[in-house]
Amino acid sequence: MAKTFRPARAKPESPPPAAAVPKPAARNRVKLPPTLSVKELAELLELTSIEVIKQLMRNGIMAGINQVIDFNTAGLIATDLGFKVEALVASSKVEQAKKKKQPSPEEDSETLVPRPPVVTIMGHVDHGKTSLLDAIRKTHVTETEAGNITQHIGAYQVMVNDKKVTFLDTPGHEAFTAMRARGARVTDLAILVVAADDGVMPQTIEAINHVKAAEVPIMVALNKTDMPTANADRVKQQLGEQGLVIEEWGGDVVCVPVSAKTGEGVSDLLDNLLVVTEMEDLKGNPLRPAVGTVIEARLDKTRGPIATALIQNGTLKAGDTVVVGETWGRVKAMFNDARERVQSAGPADPVEILGLATVPRAGDTLTAVANERQAKERLEEHRTVQDQLLADARRAMNLEELYSQIKEGITKDLNIVLKTDVQGTIDPLKNSLENLSTEQVNVRIIHYGSGSITESDVMLALASKGVIIGFNVRPEPGARTMADRERVDIRHYDVIYRMVEAVAKALKGMLEPVYRDVLEGHARVKAVFSTGKKTRVAGVMVTDGRAVRNALARVNRGGEVVVESSVTSLKRFKDDVSEVSTGVEAGVGIEGYNDFEPDDIIEFYRRERSD
Ligand code: GDP
Repeated sequence: MAKTFRPARAKPESPPPAAAVPKPAARNRVKLPPTLSVKELAELLELTSIEVIKQLMRNGIMAGINQVIDFNTAGLIATDLGFKVEALVASSKVEQAKKKKQPSPEEDSETLVPRPPVVTIMGHVDHGKTSLLDAIRKTHVTETEAGNITQHIGAYQVMVNDKKVTFLDTPGHEAFTAMRARGARVTDLAILVVAADDGVMPQTIEAINHVKAAEVPIMVALNKTDMPTANADRVKQQLGEQGLVIEEWGGDVVCVPVSAKTGEGVSDLLDNLLVVTEMEDLKGNPLRPAVGTVIEARLDKTRGPIATALIQNGTLKAGDTVVVGETWGRVKAMFNDARERVQSAGPADPVEILGLATVPRAGDTLTAVANERQAKERLEEHRTVQDQLLADARRAMNLEELYSQIKEGITKDLNIVLKTDVQGTIDPLKNSLENLSTEQVNVRIIHYGSGSITESDVMLALASKGVIIGFNVRPEPGARTMADRERVDIRHYDVIYRMVEAVAKALKGMLEPVYRDVLEGHARVKAVFSTGKKTRVAGVMVTDGRAVRNALARVNRGGEVVVESSVTSLKRFKDDVSEVSTGVEAGVGIEGYNDFEPDDIIEFYRRERSD
């Protein structure tokens, strides 16, 4: 192998050419919230709104000054404009995240002990996430254990220099985001895999943004360095452009060259991983009841529901009663990542659990409770909330008042179930949608929340004849099936303005179009002619305006309308004409009408949408 690997933390042998690399010191840093208006972004960047709007346009986004854009969009623009982007999370959220990570009512510092770091591997497809996970497992799992691993449980642990490290075995940022969407902050470190021969790709950028938004430390594994086409410097520069300036170039991101294929650099990667996570001072309290997050869950034909949970704090013991999302159970048996039966699992341990009543969802929180009664109480609270939502939706449907108003066209409701990937985007999205309400249509967000679209969301939408909007979230398979069966409309958006635009359009479609009649002219019937056995035409004189062939017509007799129809023919002598002006005679045929009488007044008009 031609390439020599060096530890990422070592001093660079030859600094790269300065011009090619964005200098971190010279770059402005900007902290961006999950959503903000174009104007606010401009203020943050100390630019004019026009400059920001122009940059948005260069990226194919037509946004106005007050348009609310999300973190990804704002991040893209800011990065394009030379800023180093960081995610701004309200301090209360940081607190919440910390609390989630280490729930600690009864904790004091004495009971806290160091726990293993939990690591997720992310990156563009085919850059080697799976291969790297395999390489890590192969080199760091003992022979006997490796033999046991026939099926992944969604996470595994390896020993690195006598220290345990937990890897989540569900590569891809979707899993990461799905869990984060439920408020679970499960990872302590994200390893971004970038293939050295391919460089930074769209999913690499997405992963970077997701990780930044979650405020999780990031480390780069520069993979496929065994390839002759590998170009490490190019990748490092591209990373810099994304705001990830690696240590070697004066930044703070550790970047380790590896080859998942040859195994080269993998140990180095793990060593560095320990250094980075040690700085986080990760602790847990093994003495308290367990709290964890479901990583994977499935139904086994013979063993029933099986869930892999990552214990985040406390210790889960065989026999414990647990509430997991909307289900509960007693832990009948537990297995570790090597499929060995275990009696307990502590902080940062992944464990497969048998004994739940039904299959939970990935991202569901697991909580050990004292007994069955407490479990049921918790579930009951949860269900009451769900039922209430459903009842609200049904009641709204049955309200006499509302119904009659809809019938009379006074009001119409567009009921929306809104699901988003992060809590922070809910309010701005809700506001943007509700602001679309008009006198005729009321946009009602009947339910909102973060997390993937579930069956209960579909039920709600169904019950309220509403639609579901998923912002950066997808339906769970069960929800998809149900929505298809019940014909519930699920719409997906990932950019706010596109969502707003689409809903605005939908609203126009929903409105009963309001028409107004535009008068063209009048003509007086002077004589009636037969043109066929049953068809007759009127010989008229246009008295004002004009007679028009492609128009609607009313026949008035003695002040009363005798027929409303459309013009079928308009002739001057034998020739078809499109219009006839005042003072001119013509022959007029009207659709489905033959009973003209002299002195009838024919009114020509057209109908236009007035909205
Ligand atoms: P994922 O989609 O990110 O999980 O990527 P995979 O792990 O499936 O890898 C995609 C392809 O790249 C596979 O054909 C791997 O064999 C190959 N690959 C992964 N890592 C390396 C590496 O370090 N060197 C080389 N030459 N090929 C690799």
